Amino acid sequence: MSNLVLNCEILNHVLEGKKITIEDAKEIFNISKHNPTELFNTAQTLRTNNKKNIVTFSKKVFFNVVNLCKDICSYCTYKAEPGESKLSMMNKDDILQLAQIAKKYRCVEALFVTGERPEERYDDARKWLKNNGFSSTAEYLAYCSEIALENGLFPHTNAGNLTKDEMKELRKTNPSMGLMLENSSERLAEKNMPHHFAPSKKPEARLRVLENAGELGIPMTTGILVGIGETENEIIESIFAIKKIHERFGNIQEVILQNFQPKDDTIMSDSPPVDENYFKRIVALTRVIMPDMNIQIPPNLSPMSYQSFLSVGINDWGGISPLTPDYVNPEFLWPRIQNVEENCQKEGFELRARFPVYPEFLSFVDSKIRDKMSEIQDCEGFVKREYWK
Ligand code: SF4
Repeated sequence: MSNLVLNCEILNHVLEGKKITIEDAKEIFNISKHNPTELFNTAQTLRTNNKKNIVTFSKKVFFNVVNLCKDICSYCTYKAEPGESKLSMMNKDDILQLAQIAKKYRCVEALFVTGERPEERYDDARKWLKNNGFSSTAEYLAYCSEIALENGLFPHTNAGNLTKDEMKELRKTNPSMGLMLENSSERLAEKNMPHHFAPSKKPEARLRVLENAGELGIPMTTGILVGIGETENEIIESIFAIKKIHERFGNIQEVILQNFQPKDDTIMSDSPPVDENYFKRIVALTRVIMPDMNIQIPPNLSPMSYQSFLSVGINDWGGISPLTPDYVNPEFLWPRIQNVEENCQKEGFELRARFPVYPEFLSFVDSKIRDKMSEIQDCEGFVKREYWK
């Protein structure tokens, strides 16, 4: 049997609702190198079957709570050192003020981001926490989340490897949380690899956090960073690692596929950005591996072509802020929401605003949070159009 015939056969099986094996996925990916059309078409059919013509985003405000971090990743420009101009340490008043402004802008999601346990490495972080009345970043995040919720925003915390107890506390105020797997390969933590000085990025540690979240019934956003020195097989194995957790706990609400973009002030500044066609094949393959998953690419990281990803299987743009920058990728501005909507319409899609938690995961969320959500929620679990427009 020729490779192309085999490819069609596997993809037809997926369209019939059969699960794909990891070997089949590797085979399809390999064949798609020369001719991706079949893979793209299948991904798009699966996308339409599962998500209709709806594309979502979350209107967010980005709280850069503290960007000190105990780890070092070779691609990261978010992390700051004490004294650097980009250092951010938001005090209680800063949190309240930004929450109030965000509400005026009708943001929905309060994205809380921190480095990995800064207090374990920096005196400055310990003092800052103490001055605010807390002994750990996670404790402070619980407080910040309460402020956000009281001010009509819905928290989504992305603070690295939280413990199970910390997540248990945060779920009282956070309808969902986030933790990028990045990649499931141990090799990326070896010498001269991007996670060598980042023990928190060890796949075992990351997967344990996602499993703990599963045991607690917390909807989780996770994903993969593509282009940091991984092999094709390692990407595919990473997608299957996420799928395995979702099959076990049912709590993975979204997979982000983030294309690496080199940053000037980082060890990987000379590494090339990801080839767009390669990235599209990964997006399409993810849809084939997990047909009903919510799949996101960040539009600001493909500023000239993000709308073309609508034809390879995505159904979400993630958080877009009308107010704050993307502190993780500060050189990439968010597109205007109106432009995103127009581009979606041109491609035949309808843009809807979602909460940080997707409608199909609302039953996971604490009833007190759900009551607050209901004030601006439409009958399908999205944010009412008249609220976000
Ligand atoms: S990517 Fe996250 S864990 Fe790695 S250095 Fe940056 S802030 Fe720290």
